[in-house]
Amino acid sequence: MHISFSRRPWRAASALVLAAAALVVPAAGAAPASAQDVTTITSNLSYEDSNKTGPIKFSKVEVWRFAPRTFGIWTWANERTVFTDDKGRINTSFPFVKDAIFALRVFATNSAAQVWPNDFLHAQPFWAEPGHGSQPVHLTSTRPNTQLTFNWHFADDWTPQHFNIAETIRLGRDYAAANRGDSDPLPRADVQPTSVTGSYYNPVNSTVVINSGNAFTDFAILHEYTHFLQDKIGSFPWLPAAHDGCITEDVFHNPVNTADHSWMEAFADWFPHAVSRAFRGEHLEGNVNAAGEGTFDEARLEKGNCGPLPASVTGDEVELFLAASLWDLTDDDTNVEPWDRFAARDRSIFQIFDKELDAAAGVGNPTIMTFRKAWNDRGLGSSLDTVLHADHVL
Ligand SMILES: [Zn+2]
Repeated sequence: MHISFSRRPWRAASALVLAAAALVVPAAGAAPASAQDVTTITSNLSYEDSNKTGPIKFSKVEVWRFAPRTFGIWTWANERTVFTDDKGRINTSFPFVKDAIFALRVFATNSAAQVWPNDFLHAQPFWAEPGHGSQPVHLTSTRPNTQLTFNWHFADDWTPQHFNIAETIRLGRDYAAANRGDSDPLPRADVQPTSVTGSYYNPVNSTVVINSGNAFTDFAILHEYTHFLQDKIGSFPWLPAAHDGCITEDVFHNPVNTADHSWMEAFADWFPHAVSRAFRGEHLEGNVNAAGEGTFDEARLEKGNCGPLPASVTGDEVELFLAASLWDLTDDDTNVEPWDRFAARDRSIFQIFDKELDAAAGVGNPTIMTFRKAWNDRGLGSSLDTVLHADHVL
């Protein structure tokens, strides 16, 4: 009795506010919900990738609800943050509130990457609601113990790129996590898709920048994410330069190849292929776009040809030679190239990158020679030099 008496003035006040705001009011006289009554929210969320339907895996989803709150006033609020499973599904239940309305905000955020909206002045990471842009799916809970299902395939021209970038980087992070050489923290990467600049890694604000033309070029995304890995768990000598894999040029088109720049880029050329090889079923795709961004395709890595080079350029300064060597240690074609006795040594490569070539190890800017020393110190096989000779590094 005491409770109902004390509530009476509040209810009157909230009714006034509701009338003024013209908000939805639940039907009067509804049977009181039992304490066990629930509304269950489920989803099956995917995006249109360039060659397949991609589930939005392990991604952050906010479940918003329009329901009565303080003083009985109905407002929207984020009720719960959940993560999709490996099929893009969520399943979460709330105490039943008659006529409560639910909405989802699906973020391109997972434990590896947080993607920001392409080219927008934004205060929040990218998110989208299921439904066509102007008509998001909002579902009303009218009866207790029912399920509201938010199934949606994002297939418009703009939304899917964010999900593809997040998922591609997640695979890169998973590969890295499975092949660590030490335990310095690997944070989540912020990613900015944009049509304004090319793809690059910005070490000042730790942001992976992806040109819109590369948003479905998984190898280009992973190349730039490699620079993030170099910065966070390896060594990233910030050496921006124009490079085509063979010649690195200054603004006057003079060759300025260096051994540390070639190592930095060669490792970033190799890493996407190591990830792709480890996750064959994921069908990572895309190598270089028309602007020459991205990373070399497997055939170019395999051959490693550069044609004539200036006399001043030595083999350890040629990005493509180094990338070809790392790939020879990784690929499985020991029968095709008789001098290549190595296969599946990518784990050793990544561990050396992470540990011996870590900036914290005090080696300065790493080169293929720093890598070679670590390889030999680990006793991983002196025939590494055979590979380095065959690929013109030595
Ligand atoms: Zn690069």
